[in-house]
This record gives sequence, structure tokens and C-alpha cells, in this order.
Amino acid sequence: MTKANIKKLLRTRNLKATELRLVLLKIISSFNKAVSYQEIQNSLIKFDRVTLYRTLNTFVERGILHKIILEDHQNFYALCSMECTVDKHQCQHIHFQCNQCKEVLCLESREPIELDISNHFVDDIEITASGLCQDCHN
Ligand SMILES: [Zn+2]
Ligand SMILES: [Zn+2]
Ligand SMILES: [Zn+2]
Repeated sequence: MTKANIKKLLRTRNLKATELRLVLLKIISSFNKAVSYQEIQNSLIKFDRVTLYRTLNTFVERGILHKIILEDHQNFYALCSMECTVDKHQCQHIHFQCNQCKEVLCLESREPIELDISNHFVDDIEITASGLCQDCHN
């Protein structure tokens, strides 16, 4: 994403374009895949742990990013589509993790996934697929 696009995105989510927010979104959008917390940390020259954590949470709350929590408790973050809003994330899709390189990708689905969870108090759903990514398979 260009700096102008990032600023526009922040504006639509009622967030001020602070230096850290701009840098973070620039980094995350440059990966073109889900990025682990570790990768984000490694991409920053200097940062404050608490501020970083808080900023990522704000992005999740405002429908800019979605958080992917996998079995090994590694947190990954991926950009939301434009359909996500402050009030509602529309990004209920399956995530794919490669068994070899551990890369995580968002899998787009043609239809929204609808599960019968009406009797349960579900606040988060995570469906993951695993196998080998294209690079590791070749
Ligand atoms: Zn979302
Ligand atoms: Zn792989
Ligand atoms: Zn995703």
C-alpha cells in the first residue's frame, strides 16, 4: 500500500496517522500474506512492546487487520478486505499454514462460511487448512 492509501484507510477508520501506524501498515501490506508477530517485530528498528501490541489490537478492533491464532499459539496478522468495518469483520475465511515453512495465507472462499452456531456463544472462529505451499511442494 502507498502512504497515501494507508492514510486514507486510517481516516476511514477514524484513526490518526501516527508514525508507528503508518510504518506498521506499510510493513504488513508489503508481505502479501499473513505476518507473524515475530516478523513484525523483526521488521521494526526500534519499538515499544506495549505500544506495538496496543496498536495491533487497535487495527484488529477497527477492521483493518484480523488476527489469526494457530495451534502453536503464534499470532499472525493479515489485512482485512475493504468489506470489514469498525463494527463488523466480514473476513471469516479459512487460513492455510504450510507444514514446512510455516507460512500462513488467507484462503478466499466464493461463499461466506456459515456454521450453525446459534446455540453457542461463539466470539471467534478459526478454521485452518494445512499442507504444503506451492514453494515447498516444488
Ligand atoms: Zn476483517
Ligand atoms: Zn511452505
Ligand atoms: Zn485471513
